[in-house]
Amino acid sequence: MIKTPKSLRLQIGIFGRTNVGKSSFLNMAAGQDVAITSPVAGTTTDVVEKSMELPPIGPVVFLDTAGIDDRSELSSARLGKTSKIFDRADVAVLVVEPDTWSDYEDNVTAELRKRGIPVIIVVNKADIKAPRAGFAADKSDRVMLCSSVDLSGRDRYVTELKRHLIEACPEDFLNPPALIGDLLPAGGTAVLIVPIDLQAPKGRLILPQVQTIRDALDNDASAIVVKEREFVALLGKMKVLPDIVVCDSQVVLKTVADTPAQVKCTTFSILFSRYKGDLIEAAKGAAVIDSLKPGDRVLIAEACSHHAIEDDIGRVKIPRWLRQYVGGDIKIDVSSGRDYPEDLEEYRLVIHCGGCMITRREMLSRIEKAGQAGVAITNYGLAISVSQGVIKRVLSPFPAALDAYLKSSEDKKEKR
Ligand code: SF4
Repeated sequence: MIKTPKSLRLQIGIFGRTNVGKSSFLNMAAGQDVAITSPVAGTTTDVVEKSMELPPIGPVVFLDTAGIDDRSELSSARLGKTSKIFDRADVAVLVVEPDTWSDYEDNVTAELRKRGIPVIIVVNKADIKAPRAGFAADKSDRVMLCSSVDLSGRDRYVTELKRHLIEACPEDFLNPPALIGDLLPAGGTAVLIVPIDLQAPKGRLILPQVQTIRDALDNDASAIVVKEREFVALLGKMKVLPDIVVCDSQVVLKTVADTPAQVKCTTFSILFSRYKGDLIEAAKGAAVIDSLKPGDRVLIAEACSHHAIEDDIGRVKIPRWLRQYVGGDIKIDVSSGRDYPEDLEEYRLVIHCGGCMITRREMLSRIEKAGQAGVAITNYGLAISVSQGVIKRVLSPFPAALDAYLKSSEDKKEKR
């Protein structure tokens, strides 16, 4: 893996009315032509993503949106995509023209404020007209003048943009929650069980596995990677037992059976539930599985649109395990990629993947949407562990989440 994945980059949403120069601004910031720019209103027909290094901030991705006030034929599809940027952006750049502030800018800043997304206002086209003193100063603490076509000023504009970005950068980006490091003493060992089957990509490991290895190394611990069939033999050869065993959810039953009781044991998916989302909420959501009844609707949500294989975990295995566990037919829908439904009320439960391809903000936004709809949400690792009867063991490294699961489970039993 040579490039930093998009999910680990600071996501900068660029908003602005049609033809205020959003794409020119992106080109200027990136130093190259990444979006189509044209004086004809509404040229940007989709979200254009541009990944780049912006030292000292590090890897970022700019998300250039279609103008929300666009009235062209494509506008409703474009609008849908633009509104999804609110779910993804860690920081927003609102590009405006000098002395022009309309309902559009009010609506965008209101939505950003509601979601706690910091905004940098870029007053563009300063080469054509200088804004009046103090323009937009009451809208944000971060306002900068810019001319995206005056490239002689590029260094100055980019330096100012970076200064605002550093100030606005969310704490989560600078100090993300622990993945595995806090579960390992310095000098400790994690054993990672990685099935190499049909679903495993040729010639590489998947992102959750790579990130877990990297986090163990960052915390001065060791990571030993093994397939499930070699795990017991490996344990036999180890003079000191590992501090933790982490497995793919699909082999959790066998892993739990093979792992000595005194060794912590969990799944990649559960590590990611904590790292990307909210493990306590996911643990509460997992308790809903015990009260599912035939006929209930469940949404399986995947954050990327990978090619589904014959025995796909989201489409085949989890539905099968759930139906066996509940003892009847559960209605299951699947959403993938960025098509997470807006309307979740019809579901009893959302079971989300680990979300390795999306940012923590986007995952938290999905959890929030479920909460607003009054629908419980959990994740693959937790749901599979409930259906296989090992949930208490795999949540034991996270006492607060285990308590939340047990309490929620008790509450549901009492209500029945
Ligand atoms: S389905 Fe989810 S966990 Fe699996 S690779 Fe895609 S984003 Fe990552």
